Amino acid sequence: MQTVNQLNTLRDQVSALRADGPVALVPTMGALHEGHLTLVKTALQHAAHVVVSIFVNPIQFGPNEDLDRYPRQLAQDAALLTEAGASLLWAPSVETMYPAGFATNIGVTGISDTLCGASRPGHFDGVCTVVAKLFNQVRPDLAFFGEKDWQQLTIIRQMARDLDFTQPAAVAIHGVPTVREPDGLALSSRNAYLTLEQRSQAVSLPNAMRSAIAALRCGVPVATAMHQLQAEILASGFSSVDYAELVSADSLTAINTLSDAPARLIVAARIGATRLIDNMEV
Ligand code: AMP
Repeated sequence: MQTVNQLNTLRDQVSALRADGPVALVPTMGALHEGHLTLVKTALQHAAHVVVSIFVNPIQFGPNEDLDRYPRQLAQDAALLTEAGASLLWAPSVETMYPAGFATNIGVTGISDTLCGASRPGHFDGVCTVVAKLFNQVRPDLAFFGEKDWQQLTIIRQMARDLDFTQPAAVAIHGVPTVREPDGLALSSRNAYLTLEQRSQAVSLPNAMRSAIAALRCGVPVATAMHQLQAEILASGFSSVDYAELVSADSLTAINTLSDAPARLIVAARIGATRLIDNMEV
């Protein structure tokens, strides 16, 4: 696997790969774990070659967020990607992605303003802008994103439709189910911030979510179940809950009564200085 950090080299290399068949893109911010590697392995089932990008995208971080301390370990990541079967690692610098004078913003209105968008203003514009750039740089046939970031996946699907990135032109967007630790905690690069004590408390998040889903399925009213869920998360050591909501899986609008329509339980909560997110099918 080759690591590339110049745009013209990337384009040459991807053109060569495309001669063998479809090319898939897996965008990441690095500090790779089994969740990312599962995206790569799933992509390899659909494409001849997988290009992985690693770029800690400054414009998707708010002023008081963890941009500076976000884990960076390119050499280790490259070794993991080689083992997973990726063909190319695209690791541009901030200057390559955002040269002086860069002035464009891409945003999806509505669904970017709720849930994580409410507590992280501008976050999804940063995500959309970098993903649109990555799509244009790599011009993949397919792209793979984790269901772990359900709101992000929904927004990217919308952006890809709205800006004609999707079939038949290009870039079919695939969602990949969340990969979890054996105890149920969703894998995340941010889990590395947790102390041992916080790590053992953090498992209460998926546990409480599963209990809430069981309660909803038994007919407990949505408002009651969401209240219980928040209380359980807070009682287990989390300092705050940004949101804990039952939403429509497609539109992300809040649901007050369970029906046959696809629904998702979606939560963001803080433990110490670390913000964890999770979501599950209901
Ligand atoms: P990140 O590096 O956190 O920006 O994530 C890069 C991609 O990996 C995104 O599409 C995430 O949704 C996906 N991802 C992160 N964690 C997981 C996980 N535990 N399971 C599946 N996909 C994941």
